[in-house]
Amino acid sequence: MVRYEEVQARGVLNPVRGMGFRWSLNPYRGCTHGCHYCFARRYHSYLDLNPDRSFESVIFVKVNAPAVLREELARPSWRRELVAIGTATDPYQPVEGRYRLTRGILEILAEFRTPASLVTKGTMVVRDRDVLAELGRRASATVSISLTTLDRDLWRRLEPGTPPPEQRLRAMGELARVGIRAGVLLAPIVPGLTATPRHLAPLLRAAADHGARFVVPNLLYLKPGVKEHFEAFLAAEAPDLLPLYRRLYPGAYAPRAYGGGRAGAARTLADEGAALNADSPREASAPRYTRSAARPPVACRAGPLRVSRLSAGAPLKPG
Ligand code: SF4
Repeated sequence: MVRYEEVQARGVLNPVRGMGFRWSLNPYRGCTHGCHYCFARRYHSYLDLNPDRSFESVIFVKVNAPAVLREELARPSWRRELVAIGTATDPYQPVEGRYRLTRGILEILAEFRTPASLVTKGTMVVRDRDVLAELGRRASATVSISLTTLDRDLWRRLEPGTPPPEQRLRAMGELARVGIRAGVLLAPIVPGLTATPRHLAPLLRAAADHGARFVVPNLLYLKPGVKEHFEAFLAAEAPDLLPLYRRLYPGAYAPRAYGGGRAGAARTLADEGAALNADSPREASAPRYTRSAARPPVACRAGPLRVSRLSAGAPLKPG
């Protein structure tokens, strides 16, 4: 049973430091998608709520978000800097169908010619392709579709309330087809579960097949509040991994060496990205890659695929 609480926000633009954007905006607090690794769970504990069940069952809805945004953007001091939407909770979780706050926000950003990037696992983003395209014409609009795995069993366990990965890929493809800059936030890469070539290589190929312009990978990090929740998830679902996690996460971040070795996640991503671009007829100067096994053909390409370096910590960089 989900409880929705309507709240009046005094401000909706949050200043951000140390990221590729200066402002973030989240019309909802809490997320019914309920991903077990979600770093935003800890924010619910700031409200004296349980970061486990309450995070996905008590959702705060900033019903005046578009109106407040309009006031903020109308100020003479506003410099039309990039606004990142969905940095803490998903702007296209199911309740958006009823409140349409994210759509209203995009309309106002377009009106004020303010560039935006948006991260989501919600396929409802396709509903707003018209306003995203308009924002793209007036300023810029980038959509990152968040994906962790194509494995149906793992998806159900890790991200129980989200649309299936193939539906998310199709949503990204629909955005790309109408000219919206879209790509994949490959995050988090989860040690012991998804940080293997068997998981990462098909994801990159699927991203390219669906018209992704970029892939931004990010390794799992576990801050207090989330770490306890994720360890309880592992204890129930994959107890054999607990010793690995105790070694990797004495703090919030896995050591740099993890994932960066010859057979690690970073190497897989770099090799696959180079291979995909070498396959692209539009990228004659792409680095060559000698393949040891045949790959399925890459179709529906929007151009070269930019695969960012693997990082751990900066969770949501717009592509
Ligand atoms: S969709 Fe995003 S915000 Fe929602 S639970 Fe999953 S990771 Fe957290």
